[in-house]
Amino acid sequence: MEFTQTFEIIVIGGGPAGYHFANLCGKKGVSIALFEERALGGTCLNEGCIPTKSFLKSAKIVDSIKHSEEFGVAVDGYSVNQELVTQRKNAVVNKLVMGVRGGLRKNKVKLFFTRATILEKCGDFFAVESDGKFYGAKKLVIATGSKALVPPINGVDKGLESGFLVTSKEILDLTEIPKNIVIIGAGVIGIEMASYFCSVGAKVTVVEGSNKICGNSDFECSKILKDNLAARGVEFLLDTFVNEIKEGSVIVNPEEKQEIRCDKVLLSVGRVANLDNLGLDNLGIEYTNKGIKVDDKMQTSVDGVYAIGDVNGKVMLAHTAYKEAEVCFNDLNGEFDHIDYDAIPSVVYSSPEFAFVGASEESLASVSEKITIKKLPMIYSGRFVTENSNSSGICKIIIDNDSNCILGAMMVGDGASEVILALSNLIALKIPVSKINKLIFPHPTIGEIIKNTLNA
Ligand code: FAD
Repeated sequence: MEFTQTFEIIVIGGGPAGYHFANLCGKKGVSIALFEERALGGTCLNEGCIPTKSFLKSAKIVDSIKHSEEFGVAVDGYSVNQELVTQRKNAVVNKLVMGVRGGLRKNKVKLFFTRATILEKCGDFFAVESDGKFYGAKKLVIATGSKALVPPINGVDKGLESGFLVTSKEILDLTEIPKNIVIIGAGVIGIEMASYFCSVGAKVTVVEGSNKICGNSDFECSKILKDNLAARGVEFLLDTFVNEIKEGSVIVNPEEKQEIRCDKVLLSVGRVANLDNLGLDNLGIEYTNKGIKVDDKMQTSVDGVYAIGDVNGKVMLAHTAYKEAEVCFNDLNGEFDHIDYDAIPSVVYSSPEFAFVGASEESLASVSEKITIKKLPMIYSGRFVTENSNSSGICKIIIDNDSNCILGAMMVGDGASEVILALSNLIALKIPVSKINKLIFPHPTIGEIIKNTLNA
């Protein structure tokens, strides 16, 4: 095979995993190429983390206005222009995508804005085809991310075609706020969108097959969040499955055939690794329906081929993707690194926020005599009270009695998205409570709740 160009490393996919890895290599002077078929920044920047948070910032402003009188500020009416909310989101995304592109250029990463397919190995080189040309690399890093899961519910294809049903990708391009929206799936994405649409005036119904929201997070905290959202007007149908999607309605509960009328449906029931036509079988790279199989160094079943980020299906979060990129990079440079999947924080940027890291109370039920659970309402943080008119919320920390270290922590209440950073670091660094108590927490901050809870 004749190569158009060869590199030390080729990365396929320009999301957080791919671009972070490429930058690390570029900074070290490694000859590296990155192939991206859509937009740099991947799902996170273009259709995920950033756009949703841009929407939620608009919602926060609405919520502040709604409560402004409690803070002594009278506001004379307001309206939400979804077209402008989406325009602002696009501007934020463009700015950050430019930043990613600038960083890669500065680090001398060779960029190809085309789709790449893996071919066979030719001598020392893995061959990749793109746009009719062949490229070779001694190492291959797959970072093709994930896509929305579309389950085979009756009427799904028709709904997607007409635009009545959308995934988390299309919802971020809305220019009008639906009057009634049904959200299928109460995971993180579903709950963030429920919070957004509720704030901006839509009637929101969330349909969820399990008996709780936010996946396998702590039950008590997820219930507090659910009750808060319900108090704001979100209707929850738990233990409920969708039977059919018809233009203008969603049918749930096969026996009763309950019909929920709506003008938009968001499908947010999970994500699957993006393995489509990637050419994995050409090299015999092992994968399951969860993603590409990797070891703790991110190496696949084929020596010299790595899979980082959502595509390996381990934990589908941007900060996991960044860390996996670092583990892979450090391993290639002969430096020990590893990722502690138990210390990866998760954040639901709803109103109120919900953040958690490590073990939940339920997951430790079988060793309940070996742990201590400390809990405190968020009103024990003075700053929290000054900032919030709705002062409900909780901080819960689970401590291992033997080591005196934190095993899990969770928080409901605005500010949780920032405070969880400290809690996840305390878990990752295995710092005992006695040492945490010697640290200084600035006053007044919401983070003080950590020390207060530990000493409750
Ligand atoms: P991706 O970001 O999916 O990037 C993969 C890239 O590969 C894509 O750009 C794709 O076009 C490209 N690609 C695929 N196949 C090929 C090919 N053959 N050739 C060339 N290019 C290819 N995570 C958080 O941590 N915090 C959040 O708040 C958060 N919010 C989210 C909200 C939503 C609505 C969604 C959908 C996700 C959210 N996530 C969040 C998850 C986060 O976006 C992902 O975990 C992250 O983007 C994974 O990064 P990645 O690099 O593995 O994959």
